[in-house]
Amino acid sequence: METQILQVTQIEKAAAILRKGGLVVFPTETVYGLGASAWDETAIKKIYQAKGRPSDNPLIVHIADLEDLHDLVAEVPALARDLMAAFWPGPLTLVLKKSQKVSPLITGGLDTVAVRMPSNPVALALIRSAGVPVVAPSANLSGKPSPTTDAHVIDDLGGRVEAILLGGRVTMGLESTVVDCTRDIPTILRPGFITREDLLAFVPGVRGVTREVDPQAAPPSPGMKYRHYSPKADLVMISGRVSAGRVKTLLAAYQKEGKRVGLMMTSEILEDFEGIPVCDLGPDKDLAGVAGGIFSCLRQLDARGVGVIITRSFPKEGIGVAIMNRLEKATSLTIEEEGGKDL
Ligand code: AMP
Ligand code: MG
Repeated sequence: METQILQVTQIEKAAAILRKGGLVVFPTETVYGLGASAWDETAIKKIYQAKGRPSDNPLIVHIADLEDLHDLVAEVPALARDLMAAFWPGPLTLVLKKSQKVSPLITGGLDTVAVRMPSNPVALALIRSAGVPVVAPSANLSGKPSPTTDAHVIDDLGGRVEAILLGGRVTMGLESTVVDCTRDIPTILRPGFITREDLLAFVPGVRGVTREVDPQAAPPSPGMKYRHYSPKADLVMISGRVSAGRVKTLLAAYQKEGKRVGLMMTSEILEDFEGIPVCDLGPDKDLAGVAGGIFSCLRQLDARGVGVIITRSFPKEGIGVAIMNRLEKATSLTIEEEGGKDL
């Protein structure tokens, strides 16, 4: 298939493609999305094919106006209304009871539907112009790191979709926080930029991800059971307190095995390294910057052909929870050492 590359001045054209059942990749503030009309089952099936996504992993429906909710959900509990007022448009996805009209192809057969109003002006204009809610998973091939630049989506989905609407680099670089609002106690199913602390300021009692409590139980969100974000290289995480010395020891061990190694580290650590592929996540105090840099760094280091990427852990507080959620899903090995656990 030939993929049309469209500029932001061509939103109308992209919207017409969506209305006619085509797939359009578009920028949001979190990551690029792979969009289809929520009312077109043939188009929705094409999303799963284009991405190679398992069909039981449901999609998020993107809306531009609160009125769009009427057709999508059976009810909006008060706590969900409070969260919408506080965080929409923005990187927060709410899981609500679905309406009859929502296809089981969107929800993986669940009786709930995930909805978000993005803040990216191009995304909002596209949805409004299409006149339909837009289902959109991240616009990467399933399992690969999420796409944060237009080069990433062209790499992954060029030739597999009708159009790619260019929007440069996204501002946040990490997927939305997903909160299940269908239970008495709202539960974070996927951590993101909007942290548990942020949510608690508006809705009391919000719980964190519960999967770790009972690994045998069915995952509360289907997406939790899939391996995600994997670079081609093995990602090895140094857990606990990180130092240039610890990185050097590990680097030397892999190099001795003949491995080509890259580093994905915070700026302070990288000051000590030269002559090997590195990707700088920025200062370790800027956790939002770190979160936004992970996917892009994984892709950059893959492009440089390394076999192993060494990275570091972060304290699981605030945005650190989301950072560690993504890193743990992408990591093949975590190295803990004595003296390294005192985060
Ligand atoms: P992505 O489309 O890659 O941003 O992933 C969407 C995430 O939202 C996945 O982890 C899904 O499992 C999750 N999700 C979507 N719909 C639902 C739902 N109805 N209930 C629980 N989780 C959902
Ligand atoms: Mg995704």
